[in-house]
Amino acid sequence: MAEYSDLTGAGDDSTPELSGSEDDEQWQWMEDNSENSQQVTCLFCDRSLSSVADTLQHCVAEHQVDIVDVVKTHSLDDYGYIKMINFIRTTRCAGKSLREIQPGAVPWESEHFLRPALEDDLLLQIDLEEVCGRLAPRVGAQAGPSSGGQATEERLQLAVGAQAGPSSGGQATEERLQLAEEALARAMEDLHRVKLLAQGLVMNVASSGSPGALGTVAELREDEDEAYFSSYGHYSIHEEMLKDKVRTESYRDFMLLNPDVFRDKVVLDLGCGTGILSMFAARAGAKKVIGVDQSEIIYQAMDIVRSNQLEDRVTLVKGRVEDVSLPVEKVDIIISEWMGYFLLFESMLDSVLYARDRYLAEGGSVYPDRCSISLVAVGDTQKHLDRIAFWEDVYGFNMACMKKGVLQEAAVELVNPHTLISDPAVVQVIECNSVCLSELEFTSDFCLKITASKDCTAIAGHFDVFFDRACSNKVMFSTGAQATKTHWKQTVFLLEEPLPVTAGEELRGKVTVRKNRKDPRSLLVTFELQDRKQTYSLQ
Ligand code: SAH
Repeated sequence: MAEYSDLTGAGDDSTPELSGSEDDEQWQWMEDNSENSQQVTCLFCDRSLSSVADTLQHCVAEHQVDIVDVVKTHSLDDYGYIKMINFIRTTRCAGKSLREIQPGAVPWESEHFLRPALEDDLLLQIDLEEVCGRLAPRVGAQAGPSSGGQATEERLQLAVGAQAGPSSGGQATEERLQLAEEALARAMEDLHRVKLLAQGLVMNVASSGSPGALGTVAELREDEDEAYFSSYGHYSIHEEMLKDKVRTESYRDFMLLNPDVFRDKVVLDLGCGTGILSMFAARAGAKKVIGVDQSEIIYQAMDIVRSNQLEDRVTLVKGRVEDVSLPVEKVDIIISEWMGYFLLFESMLDSVLYARDRYLAEGGSVYPDRCSISLVAVGDTQKHLDRIAFWEDVYGFNMACMKKGVLQEAAVELVNPHTLISDPAVVQVIECNSVCLSELEFTSDFCLKITASKDCTAIAGHFDVFFDRACSNKVMFSTGAQATKTHWKQTVFLLEEPLPVTAGEELRGKVTVRKNRKDPRSLLVTFELQDRKQTYSLQ
């Protein structure tokens, strides 16, 4: 809403009051204003020119990009054109990169690019059909700026004609904005419907096992994935990861301390995010790095890579690694930071295994190459009272029925190392170069060697990560309570009843980790401890 009122000038003191034929008046006012003062900012540099025609001519002459030609190459309709303009402005895409985009693989498909990147962008107001419909045979940019520019100018004059009167230009803009908003609303509605359908189908498949519905469920999973990837589009999640020094410096040290591993290698950075690991790999001597990410953060990565003059060595591809086609047949190394809470939450390792089996050359390596999951006993009576016994007396009322819900959810939090009452025990080791998908769901017996006589109130889980394979300088990091804290913290599984234990005792149990069929990116973890069994969800 705020953006829309900004666009129309509402809220600006100089805006005339709307009454009677207010719409006409407002458009008239806007047009007068734009005729007198509006400049058009170039798509590729900071220059402002006095008309759309001049700007597009300047794009041809200075940046060797004929926008009309780009429209034709990618068969863009009005929406496609609007998205392209906003994409160029948002990502500050260079002319060269724009020319390299292959038909059918445009990076501005997201509805996100319907939103104007610039207020009152006159480049969004041209009549596309008019421009392209009367397009003369292409005059190549290589034919010289003047000829290309002239052709563009002629086409534009035809189109800008439609913009000359206040009513036509203003109305066209308003109509387009309205259409864009309607399209967006329709897309959101569809999304909502598909989500409801998905929930129903997943339940049905889980109970009936009907194979007929599987295709649809797969499609609907994509929809869930959309939410997952859109969460990675926001800067804050990347800020948190980059500021996690244990994590980021481990990847950095592994790469920079082992240049012999990277020298002249082709590297795939799966889930490149801001591009940080791709840039470390380039610094470590990789010949070529390909970063892939489905999240829109990759547009920032494009900027970041250019700002650091690494575009010759780092190529970024937007898409799911399962869907894109990479510019190389095979890679020597796959690096990825795929780890989720309790290691396997998010299921991103599935994508790493896909990429490994599809792209890794014979003798190549996936890094990190090994991860382990560990459990430890916790004795924190105060925390247990706070979370569980609390419900027995809430302002004098018994709310004990609430305990069940609390117990069913694992909590991601920092465990005070002083409350640990056993040695940690590894329950699963994952060798990333050889593990297969089915091994990511498992059952393990465990044995916790108790170090203090206390009530055991919870089991905490954490994971350790190793960069070992063929490295002269091995690197590892731990997410355990006794190590420096990371953004993964620890995962805490509260016991329903505190369990008295004695130092020297071995607390034996069984843990099962599997994907939640209703949401395959989340996990179900079941503990069998003495005569009790409790399943926790992690979401
Ligand atoms: N490598 C970056 C970001 C790690 S977060 C860093 O270390 O800071 C994981 C990233 O992987 C997210 O940006 C997410 O969008 C991306 N991702 C997850 N699964 C993917 C898949 N199947 N294909 C492409 N990108 C994926």
